[in-house]
Parts: sequence; structure tokens; C-alpha cells
Amino acid sequence: MQLGELIAALEAKDPNLIVQAGFTNPHSYRGYYEDLAFEPAHNVTVGAMLADARSALGATYQGWKGGDFTMRESTDCWLSEEGVSSGDTISVLLVKMMLDSATAPVAASLARQGDALISPDQWSTIYGLVGWLDRQNGRDNHEITMRLLKLVEEAGEVAQAYIGTQGQNPRKGVTHSRADVADELCDVIITAAVALVSIADSNPDDILNAKLAKVAARAKAVDA
Ligand SMILES: [Mg+2]
Repeated sequence: MQLGELIAALEAKDPNLIVQAGFTNPHSYRGYYEDLAFEPAHNVTVGAMLADARSALGATYQGWKGGDFTMRESTDCWLSEEGVSSGDTISVLLVKMMLDSATAPVAASLARQGDALISPDQWSTIYGLVGWLDRQNGRDNHEITMRLLKLVEEAGEVAQAYIGTQGQNPRKGVTHSRADVADELCDVIITAAVALVSIADSNPDDILNAKLAKVAARAKAVDA
């Protein structure tokens, strides 16, 4: 499929839909430097994929062993990790399958009934944040690293706030309340959820619920 056709196919879909197996990070394909490749990515919005495809149009990328290659509407597209030359062509059928299986995050969660840990509306907000980051920054390994690092930053802010409730620094005295600590803990949860959606290979809601059930079962076993 050519880049112009790919952009048109993405433009025809609701940008808020979530594609479970989509793509990100456009780059020069190692198999044919003049071709364009995207890296596979899970749980990406149509809007983020479209932003990535549009960003490639007219962009000049460096080939694996050097040289500049500018991507045009007629450029052929591949699905391949950066630096890998054994990618798959992005065919009309593949794009159709990706887009036909795309779901609204709320609808996807509601379809699985029950007591989700994070509500469908909350997931919808989290997916919105992920889509916003994807559109602004893409989702290459560097960006994934930053999202994980952000979690460490937020965890540090929890510690900072709690230390502030104790007045442990004689120069500063008591600077924070328990509500401040709670607020920072929420930042940790949100940041972790954003990172989880960004890196999960399957539905993040299922992963979270399965994990919680496992932890609950372990705790129950200790109690028994
Ligand atoms: Mg914070």
C-alpha cells in the first residue's frame, strides 16, 4: 500500500477508535531504504496512526546504512521494527482488518460486563491521554522509556509529599497534607495506566483485572 492510500484509509475512520494491533514510529525501511516502515504497536488510536502517517509524508529519513530518503504519496509502506529488514508489506487487506477491528474504548470495556477496576469512562480518559501523547511524541522505544520514567518521577512526588507531612526537614517544617499525598498517589495510578496502555500487548483492562484477582487470591491464602 502506498502512503497516500494509507492516509486516505485512516482519514475515513473515526480518529478516537482504538486499534488493538496497529502501528507507530515511521522510519526508512531497512529492506528498501526508499520505502517507509512503521513499527507494530498495540492499543493505538486511529488518530495517532494517522498523525504518524501524515508526519511521514514529505519527511526525509536516513537509511540504515546512510543516505537520505524522502517519503511521498507513492511510497510503499511496510510493517517492521526499526532496523529489521524482514518486515511485512502493509497491504490493503491488512489495513482493512486493523481498522475493521478498531473499537471505541468505552464500548470495548462495556462489552465485558462486570466490576472493572477502572471504569469504562476512566479508561476512555486514559486512552485519550495516550492518544494525545502518541500524536505529539509518537510511540517509539524512547517515548515508552519516558512514560516509564515519568512513573518514577510521580512516585518520587509521593515520597516528597509524605516527607512534607512529617516536617522531617527542619528548615521547611510541615509543607504537605495527607490530601496532597493522596493527590500524588492518583498521579502514580494515572501515569501507570497510561504506561500500561502504551506497552500492553492485549487489553489493559483484562491485564489489570487478572493481576488484581491474583493478588487478592494470594492475600486470601495467607489469611486462611
Ligand atoms: Mg505529581
